[in-house]
Amino acid sequence: MSATNLSETIKGTPGAARFRLLGGWVERPDNLQPELEGDVSADVIVIGAGFAGLSTALELRSLGAEVIVLEQEFAGFGASGRNAGYLAGSMGVEFEFFLKRIGVEQAKKIVSFYDQGVAYVERRLGELAIDCDYNPSGVIRAAVHPSQEKKLRHDMALGAKLGSVTRFLDSAEMRARGIPPAFLFGCLQHGGTLDPGKYVMGLRRAALQAGIRLYEQTALQSYSEGPTITCKTARGTASAPFMVLATNAYTPQLGLLRDKVAPLRVSAIETEPLSRAQLASLGWSRREGIVTPHWTMESHRLTARDTLLVTTKQLGYAYGSRTPNQPDTAAYGALVQALDDRFPSLRGIAIRACWSGYISLAYDALPVVGATGAQQNILYTAGCSGHGVGTQSLVGHLLAERIGGIEHPLLAALRHKTPSTLPEPLQWCAIKAALMGANGLDRYVNRKVRSAAID
Ligand SMILES: Cc1cc2nc3c(=O)[nH]c(=O)nc-3n(C[C@H](O)[C@H](O)[C@H](O)COP(=O)(O)OP(=O)(O)OC[C@H]3O[C@@H](n4cnc5c(N)ncnc54)[C@H](O)[C@@H]3O)c2cc1C
Repeated sequence: MSATNLSETIKGTPGAARFRLLGGWVERPDNLQPELEGDVSADVIVIGAGFAGLSTALELRSLGAEVIVLEQEFAGFGASGRNAGYLAGSMGVEFEFFLKRIGVEQAKKIVSFYDQGVAYVERRLGELAIDCDYNPSGVIRAAVHPSQEKKLRHDMALGAKLGSVTRFLDSAEMRARGIPPAFLFGCLQHGGTLDPGKYVMGLRRAALQAGIRLYEQTALQSYSEGPTITCKTARGTASAPFMVLATNAYTPQLGLLRDKVAPLRVSAIETEPLSRAQLASLGWSRREGIVTPHWTMESHRLTARDTLLVTTKQLGYAYGSRTPNQPDTAAYGALVQALDDRFPSLRGIAIRACWSGYISLAYDALPVVGATGAQQNILYTAGCSGHGVGTQSLVGHLLAERIGGIEHPLLAALRHKTPSTLPEPLQWCAIKAALMGANGLDRYVNRKVRSAAID
């Protein structure tokens, strides 16, 4: 990959944005692990080295299993190395999407799964001595217009019934905390922000130290089922009695979960570091992660390197569930607009990087975790939408226990019938229509915010 491909200037995007092929947090590791050559075997083969794959491998190793991980690029190449770094629990999960389908009792357990994901990562950071600039500041879902109060309060009330613990922050409390004035009032939940690149690279280091055999630049091409699963790669094979597909948004391309999840492109922009004066003028001393209750949320956070990161806002879908690693100029433009709207004092600040990555979404917005194959020895995890920092880490623990012969109650709670996705071109039309509808509603709110600012 040439240097120009790794980072190129996006013309026409305000602030001279630089597109980064690998996201904003990780570089190709100096100690890239060798490609698989020849035939190898283990107790479990894990495909994909993001939070899910590495957590599963580490948990299996601590149960004494021999583990092989196959990663098509390098650990952290996928969403785990590209996300916004919010370690957030159940707040912001769209309860309405699934409540009627699964009922209150199962929904309560799933809410608990999201919240326990936060506690799990906090514990693992300590156990594995991973320093990833975790700031347990809490996460605030903050309104930018008074008309968002109804939805915010409704979601809080519904969440409370399901066990999601949040606290309403009125405008006085928001101002007392020094939250930038564009964010009027909000709902606070335990959690915080971290550097996802340092987190995933910390998991990678721990995996190598634990003796997990990680083969990078090794894509799974195909596999054969049976009591022993054999995975074929370009130059070798890996065999084991169990395989875990931790390939998330890339899974449909492997021919599995094509009828269960759709990959959605999520984009991010990051500013140059703010000066001391700019930081001081913002206030925001606790640096809480902020998300908005738009239909497609905006998220705004400061990083440990004093940059401002703005993500989501405009999602994308590529026909046929593909995941092209290319710039989304329209999304970066929309994110710059969101930055200008929420932080007018920073208008014109240079954008040091912009990038995109893929999450996977089931039509009911629930996790898709299960087992397949005649022997039920092919396990998979996907569908945690934009909430995978905690959940896709915790799921590693649940899958490892399942392989070890124990069904964790949270794993049982995730079991449900995922609605089938539509065939193409219907899926493309349906997702495009849904995203356009959400963007239209969000633009209406944003116009009201702008005209209120002018009055
Ligand atoms: C821009 C962005 C912002 C986000 N912000 C947040 C946030 O703030 N908080 C939050 O909780 N979540 C967020 N998310 C979602 C979160 O990042 C994901 O849910 C999580 O990282 C998924 O982890 P994973 O291990 O399941 O998948 P991934 O990290 O995508 O890992 C899958 C891996 O599989 C590999 N792979 C694919 N195919 C093959 C193959 N054939 N052979 C071998 N390897 C293969 C890929 O290269 C990849 O490394 C965000 C996502 C994006 C893109």
